[in-house]
Amino acid sequence: MSTSGLLKGKRGIIFGVANKRSLAWAIAQAAHREGAEIALTYQNERLLENINELAPEIGAKLVLPCEATEEKDLIRVFEAVDREWGRLDFLVHAIAFAKKEELEGEYLKATADGFQLAMNVSAYTLTAMTRIARPLLAKAEKGSSVVALTYLGGEKVMPGYNVMGVAKAALDMSVRYLANDLGAQNIRVNAISAGPVNTLAARGIHGFSEMLKHVRDKAPLKRNIEAQEVGDAAAFLLSDYARGVTGEILHVDAGYNTIAW
Ligand code: NAP
Repeated sequence: MSTSGLLKGKRGIIFGVANKRSLAWAIAQAAHREGAEIALTYQNERLLENINELAPEIGAKLVLPCEATEEKDLIRVFEAVDREWGRLDFLVHAIAFAKKEELEGEYLKATADGFQLAMNVSAYTLTAMTRIARPLLAKAEKGSSVVALTYLGGEKVMPGYNVMGVAKAALDMSVRYLANDLGAQNIRVNAISAGPVNTLAARGIHGFSEMLKHVRDKAPLKRNIEAQEVGDAAAFLLSDYARGVTGEILHVDAGYNTIAW
């Protein structure tokens, strides 16, 4: 794709780049191509080497550690953004986690710990970070945009997705409630429901390769999606072209969600 300068002059933060396969990285690349200035966060020192390699590719100067379940980390991140930019045009939430043993077999065996962990990391963090970022998002001249990443397993049962499906359902409803809370300040909140893409997080789901093949066979476009397609859809939602869109779940899944057989 060549640039259309869709995000020229915009400044945004992206949570969830683990490596070059991450959907967050595809979004970062698309946003950079479209002219945005980008800040990145990484969960812990383990990912620092990856991030230090990737950040220069998109000219990201603000690269901050952030355990998203720690309120003090979120506060520190947005204080740094405030010092550097004084406003925020967009925020991307691309993080999720569930214990491996929760992502296979029956949902019924979910433990209280596993349930709470998946819910906290994968759903609640969107609300926490949006709340803390709100004053910065409200300062964006032409309104601002929050985008989260979700999956069809939060709408319909997907074998093995289990607690993560329940967490994604909570994330989807959080998107709608947040959109309602923040619309008056011209802060839009949407999600992209991506089709399966082979990333670090996806490999933790039992039967993921079968899922990829099934979607390839059944989806209207008769193929799987590429991470870049999620990046391009995100660039639209982050841009002024989507100024009338909020509380929406946009499926970027080769049409798979429309199929009932
Ligand atoms: P990924 O590259 O593994 O990204 C997941 C990210 O979440 C990683 O950077 C991970 O860091 C981070 N994370 C997990 N727990 C965290 C915490 N407590 N604090 C801060 N960061 C944390 O996988 P991905 O597939 O791109 O996932 C991105 C998003 O897309 C997720 O919400 C996922 O559910 C969603 N999604 C993925 C697919 C797919 O098929 N790949 C489809 C639909 C939706 P660590 O590596 O350090 O844990």
